[in-house]
Amino acid sequence: MATRVPILTYHKISPIHAKTIYPGTFVPPALFEKHLRHLSRKGFSTIRLDSIFSELGPAKPVILTFDDGFQDFEDTAFPMMQKVGMNGTVFLVADFIGKTNAWDENIGDVSYPLLGRESILPLHDQGVEFGSHTKSHPRLSSHDSVTQGGEIGGSKLELESLLGFPIETFCYPYGSYDENSLNLARAAGYRFAVTCDKGLNDGTEDPLRLKRIAIRNDTSLPVFVYKLWRAFRLGR
Ligand SMILES: [Zn+2]
Repeated sequence: MATRVPILTYHKISPIHAKTIYPGTFVPPALFEKHLRHLSRKGFSTIRLDSIFSELGPAKPVILTFDDGFQDFEDTAFPMMQKVGMNGTVFLVADFIGKTNAWDENIGDVSYPLLGRESILPLHDQGVEFGSHTKSHPRLSSHDSVTQGGEIGGSKLELESLLGFPIETFCYPYGSYDENSLNLARAAGYRFAVTCDKGLNDGTEDPLRLKRIAIRNDTSLPVFVYKLWRAFRLGR
């Protein structure tokens, strides 16, 4: 059987903010450390999304993705990952580099800092993969193809000109996509894109419609173990 690759979805690695309306986007650092240690113990090695189906990959690959590009990736998550020899993929919202999560603030959530260019470049030099998460974090399937094209293709051009390296991977905000989104991501030249659809990936699926496993504040170690077991055993 082909290797099946789990792609885990994280957002913030931080204690839960008392006033957030999205506690699920916070994973406390002590819990994140348990996840990392479990993956190490079970023999998983992190790979980059852009090499997901490479023939030369490890026997048990896993991909750690971090949506939105929060500053705590540099401050907290990446140092913890480095200690166990792991790496990850961060999806940036192009119009908000170095700013805050306005798309959450607009619906009453707490303000949280996002990585700036001066943080992204050294992380990139250390092997962290950066992909696009659109320009402004919309629900793509609620928009026509012109707006979607600006968000999907436009963000790639914007990030490449700001950062000076190729952006080859993409993540649909809120997991929202339709046929237009898939076609536009392909036309824009992305090689791989991730959704919030549940499951593992074995190389037979559309590379622009990869599945993930959502990790949240309430993903305790037993739940984490169960989620991986369920994905490998039941495929979701
Ligand atoms: Zn997001």
